[in-house]
Amino acid sequence: MSSSSSPLRIGFVMLHTSPLDVPGTKDAGGMNVVVRAQAEALARAGHEVRIFTRRSDPAPPDQVELRPGLTVVHLAAGPARLLAKGEHESVMERFGELLEVELQREPVDLLHAEHWFSGIAALPAARRAGVPLVQSYHSIAAPVDSPLTDGERPESPGRLAGERRLAHEADLVIAVSEAERRTVLERLGGDEDRVRVVPLGVDTELFHPCATRDCMEDRDWLSSGGRPEAIVVGRLHPLKGFDLAIDAVAAIDAERRPALRIVGAPPPDGDDYVRALHDAVARHGMLRTTAFDGALRRSDLAERIRRAAVMLVPSHSETFGLVALEAAASGVPVIARAAGGLREAVLDGETGMLIGSGSGTGAEDADDPTVWAAAIDRLLGDAELRERMGAAARDHALARSWDASAARLAGVYREALGR
Ligand code: UDP
Repeated sequence: MSSSSSPLRIGFVMLHTSPLDVPGTKDAGGMNVVVRAQAEALARAGHEVRIFTRRSDPAPPDQVELRPGLTVVHLAAGPARLLAKGEHESVMERFGELLEVELQREPVDLLHAEHWFSGIAALPAARRAGVPLVQSYHSIAAPVDSPLTDGERPESPGRLAGERRLAHEADLVIAVSEAERRTVLERLGGDEDRVRVVPLGVDTELFHPCATRDCMEDRDWLSSGGRPEAIVVGRLHPLKGFDLAIDAVAAIDAERRPALRIVGAPPPDGDDYVRALHDAVARHGMLRTTAFDGALRRSDLAERIRRAAVMLVPSHSETFGLVALEAAASGVPVIARAAGGLREAVLDGETGMLIGSGSGTGAEDADDPTVWAAAIDRLLGDAELRERMGAAARDHALARSWDASAARLAGVYREALGR
């Protein structure tokens, strides 16, 4: 077993999206942010990290060094173009073979697979190389006909069985929240003894409260037509419940209604949902007060969030809900559905409000836009409450650094190596 200070050679396996992709586009989202942030923090701590990803674009070189100690390796499994998410199942085997060749050339101490495609591809390679496999799911599929509150539906036939297999065969499973840990145990029949919770972090330098006069003036609504702004951020997917955010804002009296900013782009097969969102905005007569920004780069996104009065997170299910923590770091209160990891990312009544938690807004039907409207209206009408929640949110985020998250992760790696 390696000592607690010796550097590790870590192989992240990230088959279906690249750490070089812009989050909020294609299928890139929270997983890309998390892998990149944890890999960078591990490299900063002196570990040697390689991220193996599928080549989905002919342009980049085989290896891209992101910083000393952190390299992205492209494996040419399947065509060098973007695939629909479900199509990745057909390239798992080839990816695993190429991974094995890479590991022979340059060994690692352990593999950490992100999402089930990566886990199934990496399992045989890990076994043959004699190194442990640590598995992160990022999301765990719900049966095809279950409600949206149960999470993402499988995009390809092998997913449910693949996720279950990994719960049994990976050396350790990493969950990002207690909620995800329960899902691993209950839905996948995972072994309690082999699941570890490693909470995610947030970049509190990138995401910070308003620090310039211009920003504060915006936040205090001197621009944007005198209206406060509510912001929603994420891939434009029905799971995110952005339709509910639009209906909620529409349910607020027109003179007190905030502007609504929607940030993010649809996944490759998501155009119908985007059309439905635009139609809803038009139907409610909110075209002039609603902005669709598309996907934003991290620094532009951070700038947008800190200027908002409130962030809404109406997701039907969320393993963690990184955007809620990013808002907290920005000193912006969050109104979120009391679902999955959002129950941990938002402290109800302190850093924001949880809808459907049984506290706060009375009726508490989390699908009812008027319940959301009442919460938004209450927060926007109470400057003192906003201020207090914003300050508590920033404190909450300051306790969650990526360095701390990565240190915990390294501890799990050493544990896997010692088993
Ligand atoms: N994101 C971004 N630009 C965008 C939209 C989203 O950088 O235009 C980021 C967002 O800040 C967050 C991640 O993508 O870090 C989404 O993570 P989350 O856990 O909220 O959702 P997921 O994509 O994992 O379902």
